[in-house]
Amino acid sequence: MSSATPLVGVLALQGGFEAHEKVLRRLGASTRQVRVPADLDGLDALVLPGGESTVMTLGIEREGLAEPLRSFAAGGAPVLGTCAGMIMLDRVHLGVLDVLAERNAFGRQLHSFEADFEVEGVDGGPVHAIFIRAPWIAQHGGDVAVLAQVDGHPVAIRQGNIVALSFHPELTGEDRLHRFFLGLLSE
Ligand code: GLN
Repeated sequence: MSSATPLVGVLALQGGFEAHEKVLRRLGASTRQVRVPADLDGLDALVLPGGESTVMTLGIEREGLAEPLRSFAAGGAPVLGTCAGMIMLDRVHLGVLDVLAERNAFGRQLHSFEADFEVEGVDGGPVHAIFIRAPWIAQHGGDVAVLAQVDGHPVAIRQGNIVALSFHPELTGEDRLHRFFLGLLSE
């Protein structure tokens, strides 16, 4: 981490923001719940949590957060989107990532499952991941690095300062993805 105590915002309109805050604080960061554009001021990094992308989209519109979120990401600070947060970052939502996320991609019958796999850039063996009605990346541009796949579909990607995950590292006691994310602060 670059500064002693980075301040990480967690979009808190809806969804699993508190679990992210717990992991980030455990790793030595300060956190701030982001609900309105002014909450983005002075943040070192930002997390968009899982939840329900349709509800999150409405909240972002209601609070006038779309443009402020886009400028924050364009400013180069690390941004992490998990599950619905990944969907929010894609071409048809905030348009921050050059990817198309497919909602509920693993099928209705398989709402939730767990899997272990290697994630590029994350040392220490396979990551244990929980998927909950998860998206995958259906299309991506040339600037997007695929860090992990499940059944041939990207479930972890990086484009510059932005990382998006189909799964929920905040729910498994697995700190390595958040460490990887905070590590972007010193790149
Ligand atoms: N299925 C949800 C959506 O489409 C995402 C699920 C999640 O974030 N766990 O928004």
